[in-house]
Amino acid sequence: MIYFFVIMTAENTHTAGYRVGIKYMRVRFGCLLLAAAFLLSDFAAIPAAFAEKTKSAKSVIDFRRHVSSRFEKTVRASTRYIIVHTSEGGLESTLRSVLHGKCSSTDRTLGGHAHFVIARDGRIFRTLDIRLKANHAGLSMWNGEDDLNESSVGIELVAYHYADITDSQYASLGRLLGQLRKTYRLDDLAVLTHSQVAYGKPNQWFKDNHRGRKRCAQNFERARAGLGPTWDFDPDVRAGRLSPDPQLAALLYPVSSGPVSETPRTAAGSNVITKDNTAWTIAGDDYNAPDTIYQLPDGSAVAGDKIASSIGWDRVPHGTVVLLNQEQDEREQEPNQQALQALKPAAEPALKPTRPASGPVKLISRGRNAWELAGADYRKKTTIYFYPNGRIMNGNRIRDWDDIPRGTKVLIGYSGPLRLRGGKLKGGLPDDAVLLLPGNRLVTANNAKNAGRLPKSARVFVPAKGVGG
Ligand SMILES: [Zn+2]
Repeated sequence: MIYFFVIMTAENTHTAGYRVGIKYMRVRFGCLLLAAAFLLSDFAAIPAAFAEKTKSAKSVIDFRRHVSSRFEKTVRASTRYIIVHTSEGGLESTLRSVLHGKCSSTDRTLGGHAHFVIARDGRIFRTLDIRLKANHAGLSMWNGEDDLNESSVGIELVAYHYADITDSQYASLGRLLGQLRKTYRLDDLAVLTHSQVAYGKPNQWFKDNHRGRKRCAQNFERARAGLGPTWDFDPDVRAGRLSPDPQLAALLYPVSSGPVSETPRTAAGSNVITKDNTAWTIAGDDYNAPDTIYQLPDGSAVAGDKIASSIGWDRVPHGTVVLLNQEQDEREQEPNQQALQALKPAAEPALKPTRPASGPVKLISRGRNAWELAGADYRKKTTIYFYPNGRIMNGNRIRDWDDIPRGTKVLIGYSGPLRLRGGKLKGGLPDDAVLLLPGNRLVTANNAKNAGRLPKSARVFVPAKGVGG
């Protein structure tokens, strides 16, 4: 039975999961317990000196003992590949799911989902003994060989497949790859991304086994990790073992995938649904997962497993933002402060005065983080963060400060979004109001064209009254 269970988990891995036949509430409760156990027992056990040690971005942090006891350890048959993933989540949730498995309303996995996790500040967490088989590749094939869990090391970057991977991550990954390649005598071509090796069973888009099940690390720029180019073509597609996913192929193998005009623009760099950027090209096989959340232009959110029955896949409106791995219990967990302390960004700089800016909208960029932009207000409710993926968070709601990607816009001293009636704000729109317009654009009301007639999906933010908290 345990053997069966492990095999099933290996088939599904970290984003889909083993469908257990027990009721929603029971799984949900189990997930809460799991999260609580992780935060309270494992992290709380981290001594202060250890937490101190994790502050150096150069150090490798040994988290192997935190892997779930439910994960069955078996030694891997061989090591012929290194597979790079993007975790599609923040550091805390990535470590939790890699070590203890993933939970959604209907699914659960057992942990052991990678050998290493690399945080956005470059810290490397060692999460599983390198000799063991990790459940990271799922249904996978490369050059005729399948089940790559048996022959590969898995590395999770705390990153998104449609956003930037940081310089620190590339630097740390480069060092780690150097060591691994030396240990296992592997060349450049042995380093592959999950999006390259994952394949899916026939579904509504493909009648045969096919690529495109995972978009994981499709944005990985090999040269930035010190690697040469990857294969010019997909060996399994060429040999007829798998059908190609045209958009993914255009991205991964531009040389051999034919004239660009024949393939629609790829999904890289965006998780917003358009004519060519579909639920499939953004989420792959996770398009209908319960923890894939569709944020519709009207502000409502629908889980992937509810789209078919509530909207219909052909009627998801353009402009909908697709968010992967949205933990359903996130808001219910009270994070353990000591545990979170250990995960604080490595180099939290001394607070500097905010530079005078030309407008109220600031941008998180290299060397300009939340603290530099907002000073002591960085975690206030009135400091609002607009992530590149479309998510909007108040500073007081953010738990994972390591996870604020470059390109996030910050509005300091504002409140909102305000309720609009018929596209208008009661009492008129103040000049210093900030509008969020389609395409994640933020403009002040006095700079907006036709501010009197706002598009239906616009949201309005106004300066907060008094001192926000
Ligand atoms: Zn992956």
